[in-house]
Amino acid sequence: MIIARTPEELRAARDALGPVSFVPTMGALHAGHIALIEAAKAAGLPVAASIFVNPTQFGPKEDFARYPRDEAGDIDQLEKAGCALVWLPSADIMYPPKSATSIMLLGPALHWEGTARPGHFSGVATVVAKLFSQVRPATAYFGEKDWQQVQVVSRMVADLCLPVEIVPVPTVREVDGLALSSRNRYLSPPERKAAPRLYTALTRAAQDILAGKEVAATLHHARQELALAGMVPDYVALVHANTLEPISGLVRPARLIAAAKLGNVRLLDNVAVG
Ligand code: AMP
Repeated sequence: MIIARTPEELRAARDALGPVSFVPTMGALHAGHIALIEAAKAAGLPVAASIFVNPTQFGPKEDFARYPRDEAGDIDQLEKAGCALVWLPSADIMYPPKSATSIMLLGPALHWEGTARPGHFSGVATVVAKLFSQVRPATAYFGEKDWQQVQVVSRMVADLCLPVEIVPVPTVREVDGLALSSRNRYLSPPERKAAPRLYTALTRAAQDILAGKEVAATLHHARQELALAGMVPDYVALVHANTLEPISGLVRPARLIAAAKLGNVRLLDNVAVG
């Protein structure tokens, strides 16, 4: 596996490898990230991953400083997963001192995470666009775990005519249903036990909506279930799967999305409806 830390090393790797599939990450890798690598590998091109904990997608009161970092362990996992290249840019490479450009989005970035984390999607879109320009992948793989992020990145790629195909990959879960996340390690044992109830509540709500139950009442019930599990729900919403606009009755494609705080950890999950 080629390890590139400078634009020159990255350029040499690009020349050596030809077209690649790309998996951008913030490191602290787990089986969810590896599923993206596996999906990319299965499509046949050499796989490039990146690790960069992007400061601009964290709010001032968020966990940028304590976000888990394990570069050596991550490199080891990527090598074992069969990655051809890992791009490890510094903050100075990604954001040179005089940089003055960022991407602003409306549409699918407006609600939910966009409201809860002002500036988050601007930071995500800006860093992803920069990574695409550096790595120049033919395809890029993103996890459905961050459903809204996939829609925002897809919108940006379409709007900016970027020559890359975005491929979504289904969420990888623990056996009890909890979606894998780098932040799950911060759950206390009782919180870890309660955490899968987010997925349970979403799954049940999706079934109820499909069975014809009233949407508002179903969402209200799901919020109550989360509160009973000790969570502070931020939102539980039925949305159009691509635009992320809230919908009050079942239209397709629809997605149930939710965020809830459990202790100090903000859990995020979503399921298909139908
Ligand atoms: P992150 O390192 O959290 O920025 O995530 C990097 C990529 O991995 C993003 O596309 C995430 O959506 C994806 N990802 C994170 N957790 C999971 C999971 N449990 N299943 C599938 N993909 C995931």
